[in-house]
Amino acid sequence: MADTRPSHMRQSRSSGSYSYTGTSLFYATEPCRCSACQTRLVDSISGLNSEIIACRACPRLVEWRELVAREKRRSFADEEYWGKAVPYFGDFEASRLIVGLAPAAHGANRTGRMFTGDRSGDWLFAALHRAGVANQPTSVHAADGLALKGALMAATCHCAPPDNKPLPEEIAACNDYLTRLIHLRRWSSILCLGGIAWLNVHKTCRVKPPKFSHGAVHLLESGTAIVGSYHPSQQNTFTGRLTEPMLDAAILLWLGDGKPD
Ligand code: SF4
Repeated sequence: MADTRPSHMRQSRSSGSYSYTGTSLFYATEPCRCSACQTRLVDSISGLNSEIIACRACPRLVEWRELVAREKRRSFADEEYWGKAVPYFGDFEASRLIVGLAPAAHGANRTGRMFTGDRSGDWLFAALHRAGVANQPTSVHAADGLALKGALMAATCHCAPPDNKPLPEEIAACNDYLTRLIHLRRWSSILCLGGIAWLNVHKTCRVKPPKFSHGAVHLLESGTAIVGSYHPSQQNTFTGRLTEPMLDAAILLWLGDGKPD
């Protein structure tokens, strides 16, 4: 893989500043935060977002997201649905990442912003607000003023799937975006919402995943902490499998880079 970082960040493989495994770069030190590097990071994420929004690689998902956008749910009949792949949302200079599963048909596929306009988002953003990461506890539509500080949101699959279940080949197709995002920088910590995100983040980092559980922490050699949380889906929150204190605890682990408060 060509090293596209600015010259002042390039070092030999034996220098110890980063380790090189296969085609993956794992930074062993804090990434440079100079303005040139930050600008490059922001540009790279913006470029990925442009690609994602235009992506039509998965025929079944393209058909589904557009069908849902045309037919709409009755309660949103007067709204213009997004109906495309949903891009990254949050702070593009962040060093902490949240990885979910996929947009909801009448949530992010409608509003065009991750976890926006559905019950899962209500739970997640309320918790992020309690933790000081989100500037408001609600996420209703893409122009509601919501902003994240120090966190970027990504997905395992950027298009809404039927029954909220992307097929393995669709996850594999979309994994290219996750891989490119994860290798843009050394992330302090990655919060995986659900077992599928946990598996795919490990796959992307080219490390064997330990067993997924709520509150699981896997500290990589690079220093990145991968933290597991149950997904704030209605199935989990309605049944009590995931409670607010449980989600708060996972977010605190993530903010502490895998260390308990
Ligand atoms: S799921 Fe990912 S790879 Fe497939 S069409 Fe959507 S953005 Fe493209």
